[in-house]
Amino acid sequence: MKQRFPGPDIPLRREMSFEYDVASGILPGVVRLVAENPGPFTFKGTNTYLVGSKSLAVIDPGPADEAHFEAILAATQGREISHVFITHAHRDHVDGLARLQAATGATSVAVGRAHMAVPDLLNSPSGKNFIDLEFAPDQRVEDGAVIEGEDWAIEILHTPGHAPDHICLSLKDRGVLFSGDHVMAWNTTVIAPPEGRMADYMASLARLLEVSTDLYLPAHGGRLEEARRTVKAFLLHRQWRERAILQAIRRRGLTVRGIVGLIYRGLDEELVTAAGLSVMAHVEHLSEQGMVSYTEPLGFDTPISNPD
Ligand SMILES: [Zn+2]
Repeated sequence: MKQRFPGPDIPLRREMSFEYDVASGILPGVVRLVAENPGPFTFKGTNTYLVGSKSLAVIDPGPADEAHFEAILAATQGREISHVFITHAHRDHVDGLARLQAATGATSVAVGRAHMAVPDLLNSPSGKNFIDLEFAPDQRVEDGAVIEGEDWAIEILHTPGHAPDHICLSLKDRGVLFSGDHVMAWNTTVIAPPEGRMADYMASLARLLEVSTDLYLPAHGGRLEEARRTVKAFLLHRQWRERAILQAIRRRGLTVRGIVGLIYRGLDEELVTAAGLSVMAHVEHLSEQGMVSYTEPLGFDTPISNPD
């Protein structure tokens, strides 16, 4: 998306060498398989990681796709899959779980969302079909939990923002973080209310800055080195964008649609909804800070004003 206002540069990296459903060793004891579900939000497709050299952990089984399932099984080389971690219950990450569990009997591990106040998704402009609302892990974990396999240990970091149940997984003593959709090299993540929440996302970015790990393996796209620099840039980018939105509202009370027209120039029609949702997330965040106001529920054409 082109921006009308100059903003801070964000270091994005879109090159990625891979073949669909061919296991590739990323690090000793870490293998990646890319599912063939490319798209505007999934980039080349969903990454599935296998961790361990004895019994294995799978991180994100990916979409329900027979070739991908077969490739995961082949990559185990006969070793047991003991755990399947789900970074968040979006379909491109979780739909392959049922088939994999039926074949392996592995335990699914996630924060889960059944116990959360699930936002009203019915009237959401982004719809809700991309979320598996039924998903419930076998083992529900909380922030800080450590799950151990034979030769690996994974710490859970609850990082809501893109999704309320989103987790990053830190591979202990290895200096690697599986960052899911929270932080990726190829693009900034989508924050689309009510599923996405800007205040949570920005707090979850700040949270990662407290973790010394500097190599991230995201759920889409290639690895991210010097990851903390990127996390800082993402945080600055959102802060800058929020200020630009606030200025636009201050100059002339605007709607979400009006702000999109002002900040994004030459935007493809099909991206207007995505841009609008992102602006909406910032407007919600500004409202929570008492800086703007509007009459609920916030839609694309709701007048937004500045309380001053
Ligand atoms: Zn995803």
